[in-house]
Amino acid sequence: MSIPFEEARRLVLERIAPLPPEEVPLLEALGRALAEPLVANRNLPLFDNSAMDGFALRAADCEGGAELRISGFLPAGARAEEALEPGCAVRIMTGAPLPAGADAVVPVEDAVCSGAGVRPAGPVKSGDHIRFSGQDIRQGELVAEEGSLLRPAEINLLASFGIDRVRVRRRPKVAILSTGDELVELGEPLGSDRIVNSNAWSLAAQVKEAGGEPVMLGIARDELEPLRQKLSEGLGFDALITSAGVSAGDRDFVREALSSLGVESVFWKVAMKPGGPTAFGVKGAVPVFSLPGNPVSTMITFEQFVRPALLGMMGHRSLLRATLKASLAQAVRKKPGKTQFMRVALEVENGRLQVRSSGNQDTGILKTMIRADAIAVLEASRGGYAAGEEVEIELLGTPMC
Ligand code: AMP
Ligand code: MG
Repeated sequence: MSIPFEEARRLVLERIAPLPPEEVPLLEALGRALAEPLVANRNLPLFDNSAMDGFALRAADCEGGAELRISGFLPAGARAEEALEPGCAVRIMTGAPLPAGADAVVPVEDAVCSGAGVRPAGPVKSGDHIRFSGQDIRQGELVAEEGSLLRPAEINLLASFGIDRVRVRRRPKVAILSTGDELVELGEPLGSDRIVNSNAWSLAAQVKEAGGEPVMLGIARDELEPLRQKLSEGLGFDALITSAGVSAGDRDFVREALSSLGVESVFWKVAMKPGGPTAFGVKGAVPVFSLPGNPVSTMITFEQFVRPALLGMMGHRSLLRATLKASLAQAVRKKPGKTQFMRVALEVENGRLQVRSSGNQDTGILKTMIRADAIAVLEASRGGYAAGEEVEIELLGTPMC
């Protein structure tokens, strides 16, 4: 019996636990998740400073259009030794600390200079063009929760806090095993009846893209004992993915072999298309994903089950792809009862996002995966959609590594 797709994904995520944390150099944290909350250890900006190249002065001194004497120069990185004298202005560069006594900056383009004096061209208010200490971030403020994705902006923040090593969760080592007598490794002679073990490569790419470390275990022949040995090796890693050999064919031994190795079966068969014959089990903390063999089915089931699980192991808070609503460019028919994952291309029609099937949706057709910008999730209960109806789409291609 198949189980609904949503239930299958819930069962997977229920079994996933974060890996232990480790400390990595700042740049290696990019694309990973914070293993602890990030609390500001200082104010940003650290000190009151000028937001413009211009003149630091007292706003009150400018009333009536009075001319001020230029009493000094402050480039970025310099600090005034003395407080600003009344009736004076200091030439100041963007980022330089505001001298004591000054309460406004007049940008050069709004100032009229005459030799040693300067006069603002317009009215000046206290606080103009000053970046106050703590106006961006206050010391003690929670700036990113545990599990937040570290993007370039977070890397900048960590650097600004003087943090050069970051606690993130360890990357999972993910074993990849292909099964099938028809397979040969990339680079080996093909013959007329063999195919390249290409799934291992797309899976390794997907594992990498999700932030994990792929470990290629090669090919297991469609025989119980050699398959058991390879699977047992795979159970020594943080997660194990197999492709093919999980349907109901008489040479599909993956489930039997896993069961004999003590892997608890959580589900087999999901009401989804592609990806119906997907199985999931666990041995201790090691999740085992048995994905179907057709390359498109393998990739889509990875997307739906393995990627969120790996992100969970790496401690990410947000496990699923960003989704959007888009309208269908054409009507779609489907059988009710299964969640269908349709490969779609994005278009903009009259300023609105629209999706169109990227072509033949058979699981044997890889070209339409190549042409897909997103996956449209067609609900199990539906028997079809009219042109113009909205569907949920998952955007592909936002690498985490
Ligand atoms: P199976 O699940 O064993 O029935 O395989 C389904 C289809 O996927 C067959 O056409 C296989 O040849 C193909 N296939 C299985 N494993 C791989 C692989 N590692 N790389 C590419 N295609 C594969
Ligand atoms: Mg097979």
